[in-house]
Amino acid sequence: LIVPALTILRVALDVPLRRVFDYLPPLTDGTVSIGARVKVPFGSRQLVGWIVGLADHSTVSPSKLRRATELLDSNSVLDAGTLALVEWTASYYHHPIGEVLAAAVPRALRTGSILNTYEQRWRITPTGRDALKKGLVNRAPKQQALLQLLLTHNYLTATALQQFHEKWQPLARALTKKKWLEKITHAVIETQSTVTSPPLGSSEPVLTQEQRHAVEEICKTLQQFKPVVLHGVTGSGKTEVYMQVAKHVVANDQSVLILVPEISLTPQLVARFAERFGVAPTVMHSALTDRERLRAWQHADRGQAKIVLGTRSAVFCSMPKLGMIIVDEEHDASLKQHEGGFRYSARDIAVRRAQQTGIPIVLGSATPSLETLYNINTQRYHCLTLSRRSDQAPAPRLQLIDLKNEHQFQGISHSVVQAITRHLQQRGQVLIFLNRRGYAPTLLCTACSWLADCPSCDAKYTVHQSAEKLRCHHCGNETSLPETCPQCGYAVKPVGRGTERVSETLRTLFPDVPLVRMDRDAVTNRRELESALNEVKTGNARILLGTQMIAKGHDFPDVTLVVILNADQGLFSTDFRAAERLAQTVIQVAGRAGRASRSGEVLLQTEYPEHPLLKNLLTEGYSGFAASALQERAQAAWPPYSHLVALRCSASQAKHALDFLNTAKELANAPKNIQLRGPVPAAMAKRADKYHAQLLLESTQRRSLHQFIDDWLTKVDTIPQIRQLSWVLDVDPAELF
Ligand code: ADP
Ligand code: ZN
Ligand code: ZN
Repeated sequence: LIVPALTILRVALDVPLRRVFDYLPPLTDGTVSIGARVKVPFGSRQLVGWIVGLADHSTVSPSKLRRATELLDSNSVLDAGTLALVEWTASYYHHPIGEVLAAAVPRALRTGSILNTYEQRWRITPTGRDALKKGLVNRAPKQQALLQLLLTHNYLTATALQQFHEKWQPLARALTKKKWLEKITHAVIETQSTVTSPPLGSSEPVLTQEQRHAVEEICKTLQQFKPVVLHGVTGSGKTEVYMQVAKHVVANDQSVLILVPEISLTPQLVARFAERFGVAPTVMHSALTDRERLRAWQHADRGQAKIVLGTRSAVFCSMPKLGMIIVDEEHDASLKQHEGGFRYSARDIAVRRAQQTGIPIVLGSATPSLETLYNINTQRYHCLTLSRRSDQAPAPRLQLIDLKNEHQFQGISHSVVQAITRHLQQRGQVLIFLNRRGYAPTLLCTACSWLADCPSCDAKYTVHQSAEKLRCHHCGNETSLPETCPQCGYAVKPVGRGTERVSETLRTLFPDVPLVRMDRDAVTNRRELESALNEVKTGNARILLGTQMIAKGHDFPDVTLVVILNADQGLFSTDFRAAERLAQTVIQVAGRAGRASRSGEVLLQTEYPEHPLLKNLLTEGYSGFAASALQERAQAAWPPYSHLVALRCSASQAKHALDFLNTAKELANAPKNIQLRGPVPAAMAKRADKYHAQLLLESTQRRSLHQFIDDWLTKVDTIPQIRQLSWVLDVDPAELF
């Protein structure tokens, strides 16, 4: 469509303002498309923005309305679905659409920067047109012919110009100098070989009855919105189901988007899809370079990527032929972006995307979130269960070890030492889980009770023994490990234990047993990860010790004993989600034990064996736990029985943050069905030299909560101090503090 000069472009810019900006289209001819990029003046800068709408008038006065500099694309760079999704997201999270787009698309597209996938194009300028009309070029017939040619084309590339005249370059230079011709950079589509349908039947196992039922149910209605929860214990064959349903979608010439919490930790998953489909899935995650990201995006955008496997932000990936979405480990906290200014749940947006597109979505987990279970109970989601492991291994036996009544050596109880010994003798592998890295969480003076505090946070330094450092896990501060107390000169001692210290203890207890430690200190890159996993897989390592890193996604078929060293951190937290997270971790870690013929054993050390949560989990498993946890949530009116939004603020002085939130509260004038709680300082008020506080909004009526916030934020925007403070609105917060 050729747009008349009066048309107004509605442009989304990556600036922290919840609005779009009106511009006049550039003077040059060109096709204006929604979803295309445009370069515009903004203040004294030139920014790359996105055309998100067209209008025939603007509320900006004509004298102030500025003109866009240049259209960067003649077609939309986003599929219509992605743009609609971004618009929904901006409105649901009350966040500037330009910033949502910035998070959604590869940086290389956002900045309009020059990559190989861009080409140079020449086009005539408005003054060039004038000059041609007025006959100013008549004395230079070759230049005239070139301009004449460009008059009938939007642009020409170097190759096209070469065909027109072999010595076109000096002509173009002369014309550019007179500003009658200009050169632009344009994103082009890189051609890549198209992926054909997968080689069918490549080593597919015979499905169990439950798997077959799941595949049939999911594939029964492929072209309509249908949220399905695939609830299956680890090893029950969920991934196999994903692959089989994906095959059906691909056979329809559509593509599948698979979201996972962390790709770097799951090379196995990528490999399995690659093997089954005969071609590697298109992978999208934050460790890609800008260029790789752009290429993956374009691959998906052209419909060439049949399977896109990505983390959070891949939920926005442009996929015109999207036929199904799969969210693996849907309960996982990593699917929620809970840092920075734009906080969103990739799972929730994925459900919305499936609904907008009218396609099925599969939410897979061994431990579905309480929100998802609630949606099953209220019949919004359909639940399919894989109750047994595909290898028929019996569920592992879970047992509590009472730390108060047991003799222990450096935090490892006598029964655990015995169990490890027994399993090692029977040629089993042992997995030991402790969700705390470093040597010890505290360094203490034995004489004056000095503690090594981080100066920037309300937190203790963690001891890192082999690195000889004290490190703060909250802000990244680091200092050398003192040998004596800096206050009184007496001896210092590490208190408590992290994985580094436990590995030392295990080496003392089992000196000849090869051990692999997996945490963010011991495994810092992909190569180290693969080599650690390989040590376990080949059986060279007999003991595997680690943090969350070992709780996710990996298959350890020869592990027969799982030990959870300390689960007590989750028992008494003030965060209403802590119990759920603890139960999920226990079940996820326990799921690593025992395969095939070997049944597994799981030992959980605790100081509180009487705690109802632990007893419940032990006797009734995750579903029993979840049912009673949901009842508690209902009684306390916590999510999913209510909806939360947190307004958070940080400032260099606690007072400033609290003042801002108090002013925001005063401005609220909220209807009765919305409660405002706080403001309160964060549990760890000081963090990275800033003081954090939050105001919590709560309502059982989601719609009215969101309507209220729209209104309220325009008032909050007028608080004078707002420019000096850093604040963020967290819709459906994953963590409270
Ligand atoms: P999950 O994703 O639920 O952890 P997987 O799909 O990874 O489960 O399956 C666990 C293991 O069982 C894998 O090694 C897989 O190849 C195998 N498997 C899955 N389904 C079957 C089946 N129907 N028959 C035989 N082996 C299967
Ligand atoms: Zn001291
Ligand atoms: Zn710190």
